[in-house]
Amino acid sequence: MIARLNSPDYDRWAAQIHRTGGCRQPIHLRGKVDHYDRATGRLLHRYTTRTEPDGVLRLPCKTRRASRCPACAETYRADTYHLIRAGLVGGKGVPDTVTSHPTLFVTLTAPSFGAVHARREQGGKVLPCHPRRDAEPCPHGLVMSCTTQHGPDDACLGEPLCPDCYDYTGSVLFNALAPLLWKRFADSLRRHLAKLGGLALKELRHHLTLSFAKVAEYQRRGIVHFHAVIRLDGPGGPTAPPPAWATADILADAVRHAARVVSALALAYDDQPARLFKWGTQLDIRPITLDGDLTDQAVAGYIAKYATKAAECVGTLDRRINPLDNLDAFNLREHARRLIATCMHLGTRTELAELRLAERAHMLGFRGHFSTRSRRYSTTLGALRAAREQHIREHEITTGRLPLFDEDTVLVISEWQYAGKGHSAGDQLLAAAITGARLERSPHEL
Ligand SMILES: [Zn+2]
Ligand SMILES: [Zn+2]
Ligand SMILES: [Zn+2]
Repeated sequence: MIARLNSPDYDRWAAQIHRTGGCRQPIHLRGKVDHYDRATGRLLHRYTTRTEPDGVLRLPCKTRRASRCPACAETYRADTYHLIRAGLVGGKGVPDTVTSHPTLFVTLTAPSFGAVHARREQGGKVLPCHPRRDAEPCPHGLVMSCTTQHGPDDACLGEPLCPDCYDYTGSVLFNALAPLLWKRFADSLRRHLAKLGGLALKELRHHLTLSFAKVAEYQRRGIVHFHAVIRLDGPGGPTAPPPAWATADILADAVRHAARVVSALALAYDDQPARLFKWGTQLDIRPITLDGDLTDQAVAGYIAKYATKAAECVGTLDRRINPLDNLDAFNLREHARRLIATCMHLGTRTELAELRLAERAHMLGFRGHFSTRSRRYSTTLGALRAAREQHIREHEITTGRLPLFDEDTVLVISEWQYAGKGHSAGDQLLAAAITGARLERSPHEL
Protein backbone atom coordinates (compact mmCIF):
# COMPACT_ATOMS: atom_id res chain seq x y z
CA MET A 1 0.00 0.00 0.00
CA ILE A 2 2.77 2.39 0.94
CA ALA A 3 4.68 1.65 -2.26
CA ARG A 4 1.56 2.22 -4.36
CA LEU A 5 0.64 5.46 -2.62
CA ASN A 6 4.16 6.83 -3.04
CA SER A 7 4.64 5.77 -6.62
CA PRO A 8 4.75 8.67 -9.14
CA ASP A 9 2.01 7.07 -11.29
CA TYR A 10 -0.42 6.63 -8.40
CA ASP A 11 -2.94 9.02 -9.97
CA ARG A 12 -2.97 7.07 -13.21
CA TRP A 13 -3.38 3.82 -11.27
CA ALA A 14 -6.28 5.32 -9.30
CA ALA A 15 -7.89 6.45 -12.58
CA GLN A 16 -7.66 2.87 -13.91
CA ILE A 17 -9.24 1.56 -10.73
CA HIS A 18 -12.08 4.07 -11.02
CA ARG A 19 -12.72 2.91 -14.57
CA THR A 20 -13.01 -0.72 -13.48
CA GLY A 21 -15.82 0.44 -11.16
CA GLY A 22 -14.33 -1.27 -8.12
CA CYS A 23 -13.91 -4.67 -9.78
CA ARG A 24 -12.37 -7.08 -7.27
CA GLN A 25 -10.48 -9.19 -9.80
CA PRO A 26 -9.67 -6.95 -12.80
CA ILE A 27 -8.14 -8.46 -15.92
CA HIS A 28 -4.65 -7.15 -16.77
CA LEU A 29 -3.85 -6.57 -20.44
CA ARG A 30 -0.56 -5.62 -22.04
CA GLY A 31 -0.48 -4.18 -25.55
CA LYS A 32 -0.88 -1.23 -27.86
CA VAL A 33 -3.29 0.40 -30.30
CA ASP A 34 -1.92 2.25 -33.33
CA HIS A 35 -3.85 4.60 -35.60
CA TYR A 36 -2.39 5.00 -39.10
CA ASP A 37 -3.38 7.30 -41.94
CA ARG A 38 -4.50 4.89 -44.68
CA ALA A 39 -3.28 7.17 -47.49
CA THR A 40 0.20 8.04 -46.24
CA GLY A 41 0.89 5.27 -43.72
CA ARG A 42 1.78 7.92 -41.15
CA LEU A 43 1.31 6.98 -37.48
CA LEU A 44 -1.37 9.33 -36.16
CA HIS A 45 -1.73 8.13 -32.60
CA ARG A 46 -0.36 5.39 -30.40
CA TYR A 47 -1.65 4.08 -27.12
CA THR A 48 0.62 1.65 -25.29
CA THR A 49 0.34 0.10 -21.86
CA ARG A 50 4.10 0.52 -21.43
CA THR A 51 3.53 3.88 -19.79
CA GLU A 52 0.69 2.61 -17.60
CA PRO A 53 1.26 1.64 -13.94
CA ASP A 54 2.94 -1.82 -13.86
CA GLY A 55 2.84 -1.75 -17.68
CA VAL A 56 -0.74 -3.03 -17.81
CA LEU A 57 -4.29 -1.82 -18.42
CA ARG A 58 -6.83 -3.06 -15.89
CA LEU A 59 -10.32 -3.93 -17.15
CA PRO A 60 -13.37 -5.11 -15.18
CA CYS A 61 -13.85 -8.90 -15.02
CA LYS A 62 -17.56 -8.58 -15.98
CA THR A 63 -18.66 -11.62 -14.01
CA ARG A 64 -22.36 -11.98 -13.19
CA ARG A 65 -21.57 -13.82 -9.94
CA ALA A 66 -21.98 -11.62 -6.89
CA SER A 67 -19.87 -14.07 -4.86
CA ARG A 68 -16.88 -13.41 -7.12
CA CYS A 69 -17.05 -9.68 -7.79
CA PRO A 70 -19.83 -7.58 -6.21
CA ALA A 71 -19.09 -4.55 -8.40
CA CYS A 72 -19.31 -6.31 -11.78
CA ALA A 73 -22.29 -8.39 -10.64
CA GLU A 74 -24.04 -5.14 -9.76
CA THR A 75 -23.53 -3.91 -13.33
CA TYR A 76 -24.91 -7.20 -14.62
CA ARG A 77 -27.86 -6.98 -12.23
CA ALA A 78 -28.71 -3.43 -13.31
CA ASP A 79 -28.44 -4.35 -17.01
CA THR A 80 -30.67 -7.39 -16.49
CA TYR A 81 -33.19 -5.22 -14.64
CA HIS A 82 -33.47 -2.75 -17.53
CA LEU A 83 -33.64 -5.52 -20.07
CA ILE A 84 -36.46 -7.36 -18.26
CA ARG A 85 -38.33 -4.13 -17.59
CA ALA A 86 -38.08 -3.02 -21.24
CA GLY A 87 -39.89 -6.25 -22.15
CA LEU A 88 -42.74 -5.30 -19.80
CA VAL A 89 -43.23 -1.56 -20.30
CA GLY A 90 -41.20 -0.75 -23.41
CA GLY A 91 -37.98 1.20 -23.89
CA LYS A 92 -34.54 0.20 -25.27
CA GLY A 93 -36.08 -0.26 -28.70
CA VAL A 94 -39.26 -2.00 -27.50
CA PRO A 95 -42.47 0.02 -28.21
CA ASP A 96 -44.57 0.82 -25.14
CA THR A 97 -47.59 -0.84 -26.76
CA VAL A 98 -46.01 -4.02 -25.36
CA THR A 99 -47.87 -3.27 -22.10
CA SER A 100 -51.09 -4.42 -23.79
CA HIS A 101 -49.67 -7.86 -24.72
CA PRO A 102 -50.78 -10.75 -22.48
CA THR A 103 -47.91 -11.33 -20.03
CA LEU A 104 -47.64 -13.81 -17.17
CA PHE A 105 -45.13 -14.44 -14.42
CA VAL A 106 -44.80 -18.21 -14.12
CA THR A 107 -42.92 -20.27 -11.52
CA LEU A 108 -42.15 -23.89 -12.36
CA THR A 109 -40.97 -25.92 -9.39
CA ALA A 110 -39.33 -29.29 -8.79
CA PRO A 111 -41.16 -32.27 -7.27
CA SER A 112 -40.43 -33.43 -3.71
CA PHE A 113 -37.48 -35.75 -3.09
CA GLY A 114 -38.22 -36.23 0.61
CA ALA A 115 -39.40 -34.20 3.60
CA VAL A 116 -37.17 -31.22 4.45
CA HIS A 117 -37.14 -28.67 7.28
CA ALA A 118 -39.09 -25.61 6.23
CA ARG A 119 -40.21 -22.26 7.57
CA ARG A 120 -43.85 -21.64 6.79
CA GLU A 121 -45.83 -18.59 7.75
CA GLN A 122 -49.55 -18.02 7.86
CA GLY A 123 -51.05 -14.64 8.67
CA GLY A 124 -47.72 -13.43 10.08
CA LYS A 125 -47.40 -16.45 12.37
CA VAL A 126 -44.63 -19.06 11.98
CA LEU A 127 -46.05 -22.57 11.73
CA PRO A 128 -44.41 -25.73 13.09
CA CYS A 129 -42.08 -27.24 10.49
CA HIS A 130 -43.40 -30.69 9.73
CA PRO A 131 -45.74 -31.82 12.53
CA ARG A 132 -47.02 -35.41 12.28
CA ARG A 133 -48.78 -36.64 15.42
CA ASP A 134 -48.46 -40.37 14.82
CA ALA A 135 -45.54 -40.44 12.44
CA GLU A 136 -44.04 -43.88 11.93
CA PRO A 137 -40.29 -44.06 12.37
CA CYS A 138 -38.45 -44.33 9.04
CA PRO A 139 -36.33 -47.44 8.27
CA HIS A 140 -33.40 -45.60 9.90
CA GLY A 141 -35.30 -45.20 13.16
CA LEU A 142 -36.02 -41.47 12.86
CA VAL A 143 -39.49 -40.12 13.60
CA MET A 144 -40.52 -38.15 10.52
CA SER A 145 -41.89 -35.16 12.40
CA CYS A 146 -40.50 -31.76 13.37
CA THR A 147 -42.56 -29.32 15.41
CA THR A 148 -39.91 -26.55 15.57
CA GLN A 149 -40.93 -23.06 14.45
CA HIS A 150 -37.78 -22.39 12.47
CA GLY A 151 -36.17 -18.96 12.34
CA PRO A 152 -35.47 -17.46 8.90
CA ASP A 153 -31.72 -18.20 9.22
CA ASP A 154 -31.88 -21.70 10.73
CA ALA A 155 -29.04 -23.65 9.12
CA CYS A 156 -31.18 -26.79 8.86
CA LEU A 157 -33.77 -25.18 6.52
CA GLY A 158 -33.99 -27.16 3.28
CA GLU A 159 -32.20 -30.12 4.85
CA PRO A 160 -33.95 -33.49 5.00
CA LEU A 161 -35.59 -34.86 8.15
CA CYS A 162 -33.77 -38.12 7.39
CA PRO A 163 -30.75 -37.80 5.06
CA ASP A 164 -30.72 -41.57 4.49
CA CYS A 165 -34.32 -41.54 3.23
CA TYR A 166 -33.78 -38.44 1.07
CA ASP A 167 -33.62 -39.09 -2.67
CA TYR A 168 -30.26 -37.44 -3.46
CA THR A 169 -30.09 -39.23 -6.82
CA GLY A 170 -33.48 -37.84 -7.84
CA SER A 171 -32.49 -34.36 -6.71
CA VAL A 172 -29.30 -34.09 -8.80
CA LEU A 173 -30.84 -35.84 -11.82
CA PHE A 174 -33.72 -33.37 -11.76
CA ASN A 175 -31.25 -30.44 -11.70
CA ALA A 176 -29.33 -31.96 -14.61
CA LEU A 177 -32.49 -32.47 -16.66
CA ALA A 178 -34.16 -29.16 -15.76
CA PRO A 179 -32.87 -27.29 -18.88
CA LEU A 180 -34.27 -30.05 -21.13
CA LEU A 181 -37.54 -29.97 -19.21
CA TRP A 182 -37.72 -26.21 -19.78
CA LYS A 183 -37.04 -26.60 -23.50
CA ARG A 184 -39.79 -29.21 -23.78
CA PHE A 185 -42.11 -26.97 -21.78
CA ALA A 186 -41.55 -24.08 -24.25
CA ASP A 187 -42.05 -26.40 -27.25
CA SER A 188 -45.24 -27.84 -25.78
CA LEU A 189 -46.48 -24.32 -25.02
CA ARG A 190 -46.09 -23.37 -28.70
CA ARG A 191 -47.82 -26.57 -29.85
CA HIS A 192 -50.72 -26.06 -27.47
CA LEU A 193 -51.12 -22.38 -28.42
CA ALA A 194 -51.23 -23.38 -32.09
CA LYS A 195 -53.94 -25.89 -31.28
CA LEU A 196 -55.98 -23.37 -29.29
CA GLY A 197 -55.73 -20.93 -32.20
CA GLY A 198 -56.73 -23.60 -34.72
CA LEU A 199 -53.34 -23.41 -36.47
CA ALA A 200 -50.71 -25.91 -37.57
CA LEU A 201 -47.50 -25.53 -35.54
CA LYS A 202 -45.50 -24.31 -38.52
CA GLU A 203 -48.08 -21.61 -39.23
CA LEU A 204 -47.95 -20.28 -35.66
CA ARG A 205 -45.01 -17.91 -36.18
CA HIS A 206 -46.91 -16.07 -38.91
CA HIS A 207 -49.51 -15.15 -36.29
CA LEU A 208 -47.84 -15.15 -32.91
CA THR A 209 -44.44 -15.10 -31.19
CA LEU A 210 -43.85 -16.59 -27.76
CA SER A 211 -41.36 -14.31 -25.98
CA PHE A 212 -39.88 -15.10 -22.58
CA ALA A 213 -37.20 -14.26 -20.07
CA LYS A 214 -36.37 -16.78 -17.39
CA VAL A 215 -34.10 -17.17 -14.41
CA ALA A 216 -33.10 -20.22 -12.39
CA GLU A 217 -33.21 -20.00 -8.62
CA TYR A 218 -31.88 -22.55 -6.14
CA GLN A 219 -34.31 -23.49 -3.44
CA ARG A 220 -32.76 -24.13 -0.06
CA ARG A 221 -32.96 -27.88 -0.56
CA GLY A 222 -30.48 -27.48 -3.44
CA ILE A 223 -32.87 -27.86 -6.38
CA VAL A 224 -33.41 -25.32 -9.13
CA HIS A 225 -36.75 -23.92 -10.08
CA PHE A 226 -37.53 -21.40 -12.79
CA HIS A 227 -39.23 -18.02 -12.78
CA ALA A 228 -40.26 -16.79 -16.20
CA VAL A 229 -41.90 -13.80 -17.81
CA ILE A 230 -43.93 -15.24 -20.70
CA ARG A 231 -45.42 -12.83 -23.21
CA LEU A 232 -47.48 -13.19 -26.37
CA ASP A 233 -46.43 -11.00 -29.31
CA GLY A 234 -47.50 -10.72 -32.91
CA PRO A 235 -45.42 -12.13 -35.79
CA GLY A 236 -41.83 -10.85 -35.53
CA GLY A 237 -41.92 -9.87 -31.86
CA PRO A 238 -43.05 -7.02 -29.60
CA THR A 239 -43.62 -4.46 -32.37
CA ALA A 240 -46.84 -6.21 -33.45
CA PRO A 241 -49.85 -7.17 -31.29
CA PRO A 242 -50.78 -10.86 -30.92
CA PRO A 243 -54.00 -12.04 -32.60
CA ALA A 244 -57.22 -11.30 -30.67
CA TRP A 245 -57.78 -14.94 -29.70
CA ALA A 246 -54.40 -15.08 -27.90
CA THR A 247 -55.50 -13.74 -24.51
CA ALA A 248 -53.89 -14.03 -21.06
CA ASP A 249 -56.44 -16.76 -20.21
CA ILE A 250 -55.49 -18.77 -23.31
CA LEU A 251 -51.81 -18.37 -22.37
CA ALA A 252 -52.47 -19.49 -18.77
CA ASP A 253 -54.35 -22.52 -20.11
CA ALA A 254 -51.46 -23.45 -22.37
CA VAL A 255 -48.93 -22.97 -19.52
CA ARG A 256 -50.94 -25.28 -17.23
CA HIS A 257 -51.20 -27.89 -19.95
CA ALA A 258 -47.51 -27.76 -20.93
CA ALA A 259 -46.30 -27.85 -17.31
CA ARG A 260 -48.36 -31.00 -16.71
CA VAL A 261 -47.48 -33.03 -19.80
CA VAL A 262 -43.74 -32.61 -20.41
CA SER A 263 -41.12 -35.00 -19.03
CA ALA A 264 -37.45 -35.88 -19.36
CA LEU A 265 -35.87 -39.31 -19.02
CA ALA A 266 -32.74 -40.29 -17.07
CA LEU A 267 -31.34 -43.55 -18.44
CA ALA A 268 -30.99 -46.74 -16.39
CA TYR A 269 -27.58 -47.47 -14.86
CA ASP A 270 -26.18 -50.22 -12.61
CA ASP A 271 -29.25 -51.82 -11.02
CA GLN A 272 -31.25 -48.57 -11.16
CA PRO A 273 -34.15 -48.37 -13.63
CA ALA A 274 -34.65 -45.45 -16.01
CA ARG A 275 -36.54 -42.57 -14.37
CA LEU A 276 -38.96 -40.08 -15.81
CA PHE A 277 -38.83 -36.53 -14.36
CA LYS A 278 -41.62 -33.98 -14.47
CA TRP A 279 -42.25 -30.55 -12.94
CA GLY A 280 -43.58 -30.49 -9.40
CA THR A 281 -47.30 -29.96 -8.86
CA GLN A 282 -46.74 -26.45 -7.44
CA LEU A 283 -47.27 -24.20 -10.42
CA ASP A 284 -47.68 -20.48 -9.90
CA ILE A 285 -49.17 -18.32 -12.67
CA ARG A 286 -49.71 -14.60 -12.06
CA PRO A 287 -50.57 -11.75 -14.41
CA ILE A 288 -48.09 -8.84 -14.50
CA THR A 289 -49.82 -5.48 -14.50
CA LEU A 290 -48.65 -1.90 -14.10
CA ASP A 291 -50.75 -1.25 -11.00
CA GLY A 292 -51.73 -4.66 -9.63
CA ASP A 293 -50.18 -6.98 -7.01
CA LEU A 294 -47.30 -7.89 -9.26
CA THR A 295 -45.76 -4.87 -10.97
CA ASP A 296 -43.18 -4.65 -13.73
CA GLN A 297 -40.60 -3.23 -11.26
CA ALA A 298 -41.13 -6.08 -8.82
CA VAL A 299 -40.74 -8.72 -11.53
CA ALA A 300 -37.67 -7.06 -13.11
CA GLY A 301 -36.07 -6.64 -9.68
CA TYR A 302 -36.74 -10.26 -8.78
CA ILE A 303 -35.31 -11.72 -11.99
CA ALA A 304 -32.28 -9.40 -11.91
CA LYS A 305 -31.51 -10.39 -8.33
CA TYR A 306 -31.43 -14.11 -9.07
CA ALA A 307 -29.44 -13.56 -12.27
CA THR A 308 -26.36 -12.73 -10.16
CA LYS A 309 -26.64 -15.76 -7.88
CA ALA A 310 -25.60 -19.36 -8.34
CA ALA A 311 -25.73 -22.34 -6.01
CA GLU A 312 -23.47 -20.80 -3.33
CA CYS A 313 -26.51 -19.76 -1.31
CA VAL A 314 -27.18 -23.47 -0.69
CA GLY A 315 -23.77 -23.83 0.95
CA THR A 316 -21.94 -25.52 -1.90
CA LEU A 317 -18.58 -24.46 -3.37
CA ASP A 318 -18.09 -21.59 -5.79
CA ARG A 319 -15.80 -23.49 -8.14
CA ARG A 320 -15.45 -26.78 -9.98
CA ILE A 321 -14.67 -29.85 -7.91
CA ASN A 322 -11.84 -32.19 -8.86
CA PRO A 323 -12.45 -35.95 -8.46
CA LEU A 324 -9.35 -36.07 -6.23
CA ASP A 325 -10.59 -33.30 -3.90
CA ASN A 326 -11.29 -34.45 -0.37
CA LEU A 327 -14.85 -33.19 0.23
CA ASP A 328 -14.39 -33.43 4.00
CA ALA A 329 -11.73 -30.71 3.83
CA PHE A 330 -14.22 -28.08 2.57
CA ASN A 331 -16.19 -27.86 5.80
CA LEU A 332 -19.53 -28.27 3.99
CA ARG A 333 -22.80 -29.06 5.67
CA GLU A 334 -23.81 -32.70 5.32
CA HIS A 335 -26.68 -31.97 2.89
CA ALA A 336 -24.47 -30.03 0.42
CA ARG A 337 -21.71 -32.64 0.79
CA ARG A 338 -24.09 -35.49 -0.08
CA LEU A 339 -25.52 -33.64 -3.09
CA ILE A 340 -21.98 -33.05 -4.39
CA ALA A 341 -20.88 -36.63 -3.62
CA THR A 342 -23.95 -37.97 -5.49
CA CYS A 343 -22.99 -35.90 -8.56
CA MET A 344 -19.38 -37.16 -8.39
CA HIS A 345 -20.59 -40.76 -8.06
CA LEU A 346 -23.21 -40.63 -10.85
CA GLY A 347 -20.72 -38.73 -13.01
CA THR A 348 -18.66 -41.92 -13.34
CA ARG A 349 -21.56 -43.87 -14.94
CA THR A 350 -21.28 -44.05 -18.75
CA GLU A 351 -25.08 -44.19 -19.18
CA LEU A 352 -25.32 -40.74 -17.54
CA ALA A 353 -22.18 -39.28 -19.14
CA GLU A 354 -24.21 -36.82 -21.22
CA LEU A 355 -25.42 -35.10 -18.05
CA ARG A 356 -21.80 -34.18 -17.07
CA LEU A 357 -22.65 -34.51 -13.42
CA ALA A 358 -19.06 -34.54 -12.11
CA GLU A 359 -18.25 -31.35 -13.97
CA ARG A 360 -21.36 -29.69 -12.51
CA ALA A 361 -21.07 -31.13 -9.01
CA HIS A 362 -20.52 -27.70 -7.45
CA MET A 363 -23.81 -26.63 -9.12
CA LEU A 364 -25.49 -29.73 -7.62
CA GLY A 365 -26.06 -31.14 -11.12
CA PHE A 366 -27.55 -28.09 -12.86
CA ARG A 367 -25.73 -27.26 -16.07
CA GLY A 368 -27.95 -24.67 -17.67
CA HIS A 369 -27.76 -20.93 -17.90
CA PHE A 370 -29.09 -18.93 -15.01
CA SER A 371 -30.70 -16.19 -16.96
CA THR A 372 -31.91 -16.59 -20.54
CA ARG A 373 -34.24 -14.78 -22.87
CA SER A 374 -35.84 -15.61 -26.17
CA ARG A 375 -34.50 -13.63 -29.13
CA ARG A 376 -37.45 -11.26 -29.35
CA TYR A 377 -37.94 -10.57 -25.64
CA SER A 378 -36.35 -7.08 -25.62
CA THR A 379 -32.86 -5.72 -26.13
CA THR A 380 -29.75 -7.78 -25.30
CA LEU A 381 -27.06 -7.45 -22.64
CA GLY A 382 -24.57 -7.07 -25.51
CA ALA A 383 -26.48 -4.07 -26.90
CA LEU A 384 -26.58 -2.44 -23.45
CA ARG A 385 -22.81 -2.99 -23.03
CA ALA A 386 -22.04 -1.66 -26.52
CA ALA A 387 -24.05 1.49 -25.79
CA ARG A 388 -22.07 2.00 -22.59
CA GLU A 389 -18.72 1.43 -24.33
CA GLN A 390 -19.68 3.87 -27.09
CA HIS A 391 -20.46 6.42 -24.41
CA ILE A 392 -17.04 5.91 -22.77
CA ARG A 393 -15.32 6.20 -26.17
CA GLU A 394 -17.08 9.46 -26.96
CA HIS A 395 -16.00 10.76 -23.58
CA GLU A 396 -12.38 9.83 -24.31
CA ILE A 397 -12.52 11.61 -27.65
CA THR A 398 -13.99 14.80 -26.18
CA THR A 399 -11.36 14.78 -23.41
CA GLY A 400 -8.59 14.30 -25.98
CA ARG A 401 -7.48 10.82 -24.89
CA LEU A 402 -8.51 9.23 -28.18
CA PRO A 403 -8.26 10.85 -31.63
CA LEU A 404 -11.48 11.58 -33.50
CA PHE A 405 -11.09 9.84 -36.82
CA ASP A 406 -13.04 8.80 -39.82
CA GLU A 407 -13.07 4.99 -40.01
CA ASP A 408 -12.55 5.00 -43.80
CA THR A 409 -9.30 6.96 -43.69
CA VAL A 410 -7.70 5.55 -40.56
CA LEU A 411 -6.32 2.08 -40.03
CA VAL A 412 -6.44 0.82 -36.44
CA ILE A 413 -4.12 -2.01 -35.40
CA SER A 414 -4.37 -3.39 -31.88
CA GLU A 415 -2.32 -6.02 -30.12
CA TRP A 416 -3.37 -7.32 -26.73
CA GLN A 417 -1.98 -9.94 -24.41
CA TYR A 418 -3.45 -11.36 -21.22
CA ALA A 419 -1.12 -10.45 -18.36
CA GLY A 420 -2.88 -11.75 -15.28
CA LYS A 421 -5.78 -10.90 -13.05
CA GLY A 422 -6.69 -9.53 -9.63
CA HIS A 423 -5.06 -7.24 -7.09
CA SER A 424 -2.25 -7.58 -4.59
CA ALA A 425 -3.49 -7.48 -0.99
CA GLY A 426 -2.39 -3.84 -0.65
CA ASP A 427 -3.97 -2.78 -3.95
CA GLN A 428 -7.19 -4.54 -2.91
CA LEU A 429 -7.51 -2.36 0.19
CA LEU A 430 -6.65 0.83 -1.68
CA ALA A 431 -9.03 -0.02 -4.53
CA ALA A 432 -11.84 -0.63 -2.05
CA ALA A 433 -11.07 2.65 -0.28
CA ILE A 434 -11.14 4.76 -3.44
CA THR A 435 -14.16 3.12 -5.08
CA GLY A 436 -16.20 2.48 -1.96
CA ALA A 437 -16.41 -1.22 -2.90
CA ARG A 438 -17.10 -3.68 -0.15
CA LEU A 439 -14.29 -6.00 0.85
CA GLU A 440 -16.45 -8.93 1.85
CA ARG A 441 -15.43 -12.31 0.55
CA SER A 442 -17.32 -15.55 0.22
CA PRO A 443 -16.61 -17.93 3.12
CA HIS A 444 -14.86 -20.39 0.80
CA GLU A 445 -12.29 -17.84 -0.32
CA LEU A 446 -10.99 -17.17 3.17
ZN1 LIG B 1 -15.22 -7.58 -11.57
ZN1 LIG C 1 -37.85 -28.73 11.06
ZN1 LIG D 1 -34.69 -42.63 7.10
